[in-house]
Amino acid sequence: MFQSARIKLTLFYLLIIMVISVAFSGFVYRSFMIDAERGLRRRAVRVQAPGSPFVFIQPDPDFSFETQIEVLNELRQQLLTRLVFINLIIVGCAGSAGYFLAGKTLAPIEKMVDDQKRFIGDASHELRTPLTALRTEIEVALLDPKLSKDEAKKLLKSNLEEVDKMQSLSNYLLALSKYENSNQKITKEKIDLSREVKKATNRVNLIAQEKGITIKENLNEVFIHANATSITELATILLDNAVKYSDHGKQVTVKTYAKGKQAVLEVKDQGIGINASNLPFIFNRFYRADTSRSKTKVDGHGLGLSIAKSIADMHKATIHVESTPGKGSVFTVNFQRFIS
Ligand code: ADP
Repeated sequence: MFQSARIKLTLFYLLIIMVISVAFSGFVYRSFMIDAERGLRRRAVRVQAPGSPFVFIQPDPDFSFETQIEVLNELRQQLLTRLVFINLIIVGCAGSAGYFLAGKTLAPIEKMVDDQKRFIGDASHELRTPLTALRTEIEVALLDPKLSKDEAKKLLKSNLEEVDKMQSLSNYLLALSKYENSNQKITKEKIDLSREVKKATNRVNLIAQEKGITIKENLNEVFIHANATSITELATILLDNAVKYSDHGKQVTVKTYAKGKQAVLEVKDQGIGINASNLPFIFNRFYRADTSRSKTKVDGHGLGLSIAKSIADMHKATIHVESTPGKGSVFTVNFQRFIS
């Protein structure tokens, strides 16, 4: 599809250049021929009488009308050959340059379409897994004539888990499209980073308690120009991961503080850590590193950190991670401080 679009665009560029080139050649041809005709008609000879100091200019008697026509035809022929030759060179150069430029013009569009295709493929794949599980469980239950009430309840509970997974996926997808496509529409104001992070801690605390994980807070007031909801979301993602990828009884530390002109959010855990080979990819959509070091199975879609990155980008903040497998990770987000 992109190859044919590239060729069409090249032909379009070529057409524009050729129209200009042919029009210019026509103009050169006409003006040259008019000048040549005029010059030939006025062709003259210098005459000087023997012993006379004066030189006279007279029409050339040897240059008859027939000779003029002959010379003109020859000039016309030469000019036409040169113009055709020049135009052929222009076609060649413009064709190659046009093909190159068309490739350059279409490359970002091609990448965007490829990304979109990959995204749709990955999202469908993520949806297919819980849907297949749901379908299989329901089909098996329907085929069982002696299904007891307890078994039916167990089945519905399991179904609900699959529905939860799909709901969480659709929430992530919605968040992703919101933060990736509407940079300008999201309103920003002066907010206290520590307040939004506190909201995030409150959200995650319950899951942390269930896992026996304590969240230690060291939240200092520091102002940034940001969208409050998305900052809470960013902090929730980091805290949620810190809890998710830590084993029972560990500690998560969350800090906010000012550092020069920057406001820093830091989330540190004592969890399973991330291998150096996985680190460059964890912010990619649908990327999930190997979590087999975790004692419990960790659910996820590989979208949290890409949303966190989009939110950071939206605020011109940077997000980076340091991690030691088996020891834990530190995620740091650096914002521009709001100094009034
Ligand atoms: P998800 O957690 O749903 O898999 P994320 O985009 O939030 O997706 O994270 C991508 C991957 O990065 C995770 O699959 C996990 O392997 C790794 N990861 C993220 N946060 C942590 C953390 N705090 N500790 C260890 N690994 C992490």
